Amino acid sequence: MIRKKRITVKGIVQGVGFRPFVYRLANDLDLKGFVRNTTDGVDIEVEGITSSITQFIKRLQEENPKAARIDNLLTKELVPNGYNRFVIKESKILKGFTQISPDIATCEDCLNELYNSHDRRYEFPFINCTNCGPRYSIIFETPYDRKRTSMNKFKMCSDCEKEFYEVTDRRFHAQPDCCAVCGPRFALYSINGSEVKTNNPISKAAEFLKRGRIIAIKGIGGFHIVGDATNCKVIKRLRRLKNRPTKPFAIMARSRDLMKIVNLTDDENKIIDSPVAPIMLLTKRRKIICEEVAPNNPYLGVMLPYAPVHHLLLEKIPYLIMTSANIQDEPIVADGTGVVEKLNNIVSLYLTHDRRIENRCDDSIGFYLSKKGFSIIRRSRGYVPVPIDLPFSVKPTLAVGPYLKNTFTLASQQEAYVSPHIGDLDNLETMDFFNEMVDKYKRWFRIEPELIVHDLHPDYLSTKIAFEFVERSTFNLKRVGVQHHIAHIVSCLGENKVVDKAIGIAFDGTGFGLDGKIWGGEFFVGDLSAQKRVGHLDYLPLPGGEASIKKPYRIAIAYLYKLFGEDVVTLTFRKRAPIKVRSKEVTTIINMIKQNRNVVYTSSMGRLFDCVASMLGLVKEITYEAEAAINLEYIAAKRIRQVYPYRIKDGEPLTVELNDILAGVIMDLQRRISPGIISAKFHNTIVHFSLEISKKLSRIYNMKKVCFSGGVFQNRYLLNLMIDKFGDAGYEVYVHHQLPTNDGCISYGQTIFGNAKNRQ
Ligand code: ZN
Ligand code: ZN
Ligand code: FE
Repeated sequence: MIRKKRITVKGIVQGVGFRPFVYRLANDLDLKGFVRNTTDGVDIEVEGITSSITQFIKRLQEENPKAARIDNLLTKELVPNGYNRFVIKESKILKGFTQISPDIATCEDCLNELYNSHDRRYEFPFINCTNCGPRYSIIFETPYDRKRTSMNKFKMCSDCEKEFYEVTDRRFHAQPDCCAVCGPRFALYSINGSEVKTNNPISKAAEFLKRGRIIAIKGIGGFHIVGDATNCKVIKRLRRLKNRPTKPFAIMARSRDLMKIVNLTDDENKIIDSPVAPIMLLTKRRKIICEEVAPNNPYLGVMLPYAPVHHLLLEKIPYLIMTSANIQDEPIVADGTGVVEKLNNIVSLYLTHDRRIENRCDDSIGFYLSKKGFSIIRRSRGYVPVPIDLPFSVKPTLAVGPYLKNTFTLASQQEAYVSPHIGDLDNLETMDFFNEMVDKYKRWFRIEPELIVHDLHPDYLSTKIAFEFVERSTFNLKRVGVQHHIAHIVSCLGENKVVDKAIGIAFDGTGFGLDGKIWGGEFFVGDLSAQKRVGHLDYLPLPGGEASIKKPYRIAIAYLYKLFGEDVVTLTFRKRAPIKVRSKEVTTIINMIKQNRNVVYTSSMGRLFDCVASMLGLVKEITYEAEAAINLEYIAAKRIRQVYPYRIKDGEPLTVELNDILAGVIMDLQRRISPGIISAKFHNTIVHFSLEISKKLSRIYNMKKVCFSGGVFQNRYLLNLMIDKFGDAGYEVYVHHQLPTNDGCISYGQTIFGNAKNRQ
């Protein structure tokens, strides 16, 4: 019997080769009907025998293109009307919008053509197809169509045009389709603007790289600063020029070469080799790469080539440093002018092309947790602008996010469009980038916010922006502030769709607390709409406020003075002096605390890490965020079970007193226990008191779910221990997956809590 079904598919189904796939599948199963793009997905009608239709629906979900993602598939029985063939129909534009696909790493098929000397796209550095290529980074307007991308200035040649309109072709409706005849071109310039004459700019650039030059190379979301990762002199020079003494650099290598420098499990390989192709932090293996790339670090940030130009370069030179081209804390540079203006003292050449990058985005970064799967640190290229589900429907909302590692979220109903990583909102360039992306997101996703959500910190630029939005708005735009760590916890609950009550542990750097103090070592109980702070680390003084974060020894001096008095400070910092601090500076800090002048109080876990790291003499002044804490993590010895004594002071909220813990560290230092063991004991102690507090809370509030959020959980040593111990104790543990555990998750949490708060 002939039947007919309509199938509506939502998700990432446009710009990823979905319609040709449906077309082939339908023909394969001898089904008639049509497929077409609509503004919110793909519509299919199939007519044929029952078993074929069943097969069709099954294979639709199992065999769909690698870069596609089906979020929702609905079927409806219809009366057959006697279609005589299967066709791809003209798109149907409804009110609403289509999802924009993220940029997709070059696919296998394209690579085969790239290396096939008989193919017309042999070594063509812009090769792409419906399954791969640039998407997000080239679009300036929706819906996604060539004329609304930066491919609009390249007129397709007749060969490309033929492919573009041939439904069975892999390039059918591949918007960035092009070839060497009609497509963009690479060119190599010296930094003073003169073009390097060559008929192969890419291999010429590779030659220069081999000779130790540092070059800016235009990729998908921006330029990279590139150098030979096996040449230590190059790395040292780059560090000096970029004023980046120790922060690790990422490396790009082909799969077969990657295996030689890092350990790669199957699970990790699946992610790094996916269409997203993020940077992954993997454990180092052999010393092909010079130590300077990631000094004193057990991990190496690595990625596979994801644009054709990368593949062509790596053919000539196997290991490349690839670091975002920017000057400290500014957004990534995306055009030649930017390179000349900003990077002229770092690179001597730049390899660029004439396909404009419309939307800048950095490489995404993550690592793999054996028990919890992928954990993302920076969510940008390959992920944006795919929306993240919200646990409930929200009104049109703009959440402006935090100050550091800013992302904003534009949301409506159950979809949250979390922006790419914007950066630290403390310079004009980053602010411009923020405003540019807010405008674009509003336009693309047709969301005009009715609610603005922001952090409580009165001085954050993001908070000021929120106030300005309200002032400028012509209608009754509402504004809600959400506490930083509540946003963290709610973000984690939200992305995991935990709607009932849970314990929330926020271990973080800093965030403005509801009592005006700086929070960051917090315990909460609550759900998506109400959070109560039920525990925290004891408050200790930060001399000079957040400025002391750059010099963590100042934190240690302040903490030790407050807890034990001047003698212990002298003992730790003047006599033994793992870090040399001038006597006068010690006195100044002590006086600040004595007179309570220019001192703020904090319960931050990040600062406690800084304190212990300084006591061990690991770092004097940090050169990138959390450097001291990261060093403390990396030296931690394995298989140590001891813990420092600690005390939890009863009350509401509970407080973790830190004097016993730090006294334990001091004693170990005097007994000349190795820093690795001290670090391990310190980590263990955190897990122990966290579990003890949680057990108390479980008894009082009767809950067995716990979630972890905050920048400190980027510490894999700590996170793994927490997951293990809480799991052993019978807790259901939730961590971030789709969003970073650092402040990159804040705007999403603000969206949820802001809406819940606004409803009350
Ligand atoms: Zn392809
Ligand atoms: Zn062409
Ligand atoms: Fe935070």
